[in-house]
Amino acid sequence: MSAASDNRWFGDLLLSWYAENGRQLPWRETHDPYKIWISEVVLQQTRVEQGLPYYLRLTNRFPTVADLAEAKEDEVLKYWQGLGYYSRARNLHAAAKHVCNNLNGHMPATYEGLKALKGVGDYTAADIAALAYGLPHAAIDGNGYRVLARVFGINTPIDSTQGKKEFARLGAELVSTDNPGNFNQGLMDLGATICTPQNPQCDNCPLSGKCYALANKQWQQLPVKEKKTKVHDRYFYYFQITLPDGRIIANQRKGKDIWTGLFDFPMIENATELEQKDLFAGKDFKALRKRMKGLSVVKEGKSIKHQLSHQTLHATLFFCTATAATLKDCEQAVTAGEFDELAIPRLIELLREKEDP
Ligand code: SF4
Repeated sequence: MSAASDNRWFGDLLLSWYAENGRQLPWRETHDPYKIWISEVVLQQTRVEQGLPYYLRLTNRFPTVADLAEAKEDEVLKYWQGLGYYSRARNLHAAAKHVCNNLNGHMPATYEGLKALKGVGDYTAADIAALAYGLPHAAIDGNGYRVLARVFGINTPIDSTQGKKEFARLGAELVSTDNPGNFNQGLMDLGATICTPQNPQCDNCPLSGKCYALANKQWQQLPVKEKKTKVHDRYFYYFQITLPDGRIIANQRKGKDIWTGLFDFPMIENATELEQKDLFAGKDFKALRKRMKGLSVVKEGKSIKHQLSHQTLHATLFFCTATAATLKDCEQAVTAGEFDELAIPRLIELLREKEDP
């Protein structure tokens, strides 16, 4: 008997569980590779409940790949606002343009073709290939790694090269050739709702009769991860500067840092927390003062701690006035209404929600 037929129970149990318990989601009702692609990109690093409204808004405004390709990047980012990891939106937009400019507007119909699109990795390519085209590719996300590591008792770290190969091999062996799309979605749902990181509901799990972790009381030890993610602190001091005509100065973020292309305010960053007197006595504030004539700090807003995946941001917003400004290329003076139309990071939204001058 082949290894694949040995393990057929896995796909059978998973698919019957999914038929009864799978969550109904709009991208599961379609075979449109473009819409499935949008859902994949939205759901990277994002829970389904949080991502669903974004999926609906994006596919409503950009119903086809051509609509997305024709949009301005600022608009795409505005629709993405609040989801974080903005490089996903920029890659999606660039890839949509590539599809329209170089592939006659047709989404690639193979795993390899999909993977060649900007921002599309193994998982996304496999899931689109399976859901849209019925191709037998296993898409294993964090949920899938957890389920497989526990059921088969795999100790190889899931974030190691060897682990990735081992899980990919197992996935290829297990994936249903009849219904690879439902197999992948089922694996994800089972991990998200039953085989959760803490307190898995083994009593309700279709795989409990075959599960290594349950039989050996190992669910807390599996899956294994090699690297601990390091989180570092950053201190942002923002200045919302109002000019005599009521306009405020917006800064468009450039470079390779977080939030490229989004708008915030002129700011000073420091690696450690600064006392207010040290902030205002420092060279960065002096440089700001030189560009902002008559700069006066009217009020200090409250400080916010904002968690990103690898960074903890400690941000404070100062409300200021200035009589005139020499703007950098990345800055522009806008009305409050115009500022609201710009794509801004969630942190700026929170800072502004908390405080009005
Ligand atoms: S039996 Fe428990 S540990 Fe094993 S796969 Fe199911 S939920 Fe996870």
